[in-house]
Amino acid sequence: MDHTYLTCLFMFMFTLVYKMASKPPSVVKFGYEEFQIISDRKWCAKCKHCGEKITETRGTSSGFTKHMERKHAALFEDYKKRKSK
Ligand SMILES: [Zn+2]
Repeated sequence: MDHTYLTCLFMFMFTLVYKMASKPPSVVKFGYEEFQIISDRKWCAKCKHCGEKITETRGTSSGFTKHMERKHAALFEDYKKRKSK
């Protein structure tokens, strides 16, 4: 593999990841509101059900998922069901 090819591939992957990190994760669309990107590294959203504000590393959604799993177990079950469809 030559160097140019690798550079192109890297740029492509980077663009893809960057675009993905600009849209709210599915769990946020499901149970959160007021989604916003705070900075290059952080995004946040407010829980629809208890109003708690969750700040998370941009591009990841585990914080949002964990909050729902711990505080709103029934809702989380519902979310998992919808996701698996
Ligand atoms: Zn909540």
